[in-house]
Amino acid sequence: MRTPQEAVSIILDRTRPSESFEFCSLLDAAGRVLARAVHSDLDLPPFQKSAMDGFAVHSADFSEGKARLRVLGESRAGVPFTDAIPPGHCVAIYTGGQVPGDCDAVVMVEKSRQEGDFVELEDSPGGGQHICERGEDLAEGQEVLCAGTRLQPAMVSLLASVGCVPVPVVARPRMAILTTGDELIDPSEFPGPGQIREGNTLHLAALARAAGADVVRSGVVRDDLEGLVATFRSALDECDILVTTGGVSMGKYDLVGEALEAVGVEKVFHKVAIKPGKPVWFGMAGEKLVFGLPGNPVSCWVGHEVFVNPAIAKMSGLPEAQWIEPLRIGRWIGGPTRENNREQHLPACAVQAADGVDELELVRWKSSADLVGLSRAQVLAVVPPDQVLRKGDRVHYRRIV
Ligand code: AMP
Ligand code: MG
Repeated sequence: MRTPQEAVSIILDRTRPSESFEFCSLLDAAGRVLARAVHSDLDLPPFQKSAMDGFAVHSADFSEGKARLRVLGESRAGVPFTDAIPPGHCVAIYTGGQVPGDCDAVVMVEKSRQEGDFVELEDSPGGGQHICERGEDLAEGQEVLCAGTRLQPAMVSLLASVGCVPVPVVARPRMAILTTGDELIDPSEFPGPGQIREGNTLHLAALARAAGADVVRSGVVRDDLEGLVATFRSALDECDILVTTGGVSMGKYDLVGEALEAVGVEKVFHKVAIKPGKPVWFGMAGEKLVFGLPGNPVSCWVGHEVFVNPAIAKMSGLPEAQWIEPLRIGRWIGGPTRENNREQHLPACAVQAADGVDELELVRWKSSADLVGLSRAQVLAVVPPDQVLRKGDRVHYRRIV
């Protein structure tokens, strides 16, 4: 059976970065991926700007740490002072105000004493003191951000300051999420005999959106080949990634793989050496990716984190270094884990110790169906095949909150 790492590289080999882009408003840009490089349309700051409230002066007017100057007027943010300022003169200036061209320094208001039209200043200002020079952050024409950047909030303000409106972003991968099972009912209903409320589509949608996908469809399908075939066919028309949950094990009613092949999805693999989540099914419909994840909530969660997330990242136009989130390293403080020949992903809680290292231990959980346990976890600890974690061991993990 292939390892999770082999499976992920097979998936990534077959994933094509999206070539379609669109424009979005600055308000909606956070979290989106830039479709092309952005260059500045001006120098930043665009003019010589005061960093302080005080007085714009000629530093040559100072001797022995002081000067007495006539105040000609003021320069405030948005309203520059435009007349010439002869030697022995200055203007009051406020933070963000333009420093008049013939002044070379700003003295803080704290170092001043005003008397009528004059001000006494105690300072030895060097040239450029408290002045942000034009273009010191960015020159006109300079590249501000490169294609493939996932926009952080500060970057959105930066794009605003260089006039990048609207913002060219990569189209989000369109994802359809379908869950299968005759036992599944809507969360608003009360279960009859043998029924359960379905929840997988909800955590899958939340995870997919957080990863940058657009959820275009979500719903429940019965364990019936004809129904599955019809629903899969129409879902594939609408999405770039189809994720199903349930119906990929070996039972008589596990019909997902058969139905997917019946609509022309080419099977690439079925089963990976991972626990939970072994029955994961992966195939392609043209360039569309199809993931059949198991139905147990924790298996389905792990399947998304390990297999679907990297594909969303690559399709979204992110650079290769960001396709797979690197695992973090912590310290195991729980009891010994059970040995298994598959890579295990265990829901665990993590608390930072005094030495700064996250200490992990298993949450109380029963099985891969245990959503209560999963909800108590902050991380999934990743245990390599045939390894037992003992108290004090180094452990790899991935944050899930
Ligand atoms: P399956 O993979 O179809 O054999 O399902 C495994 C277990 O997961 C069964 O107990 C299902 O009832 C449960 N299950 C399947 N789909 C969902 C879902 N959408 N929400 C919650 N539990 C589910
Ligand atoms: Mg089922």
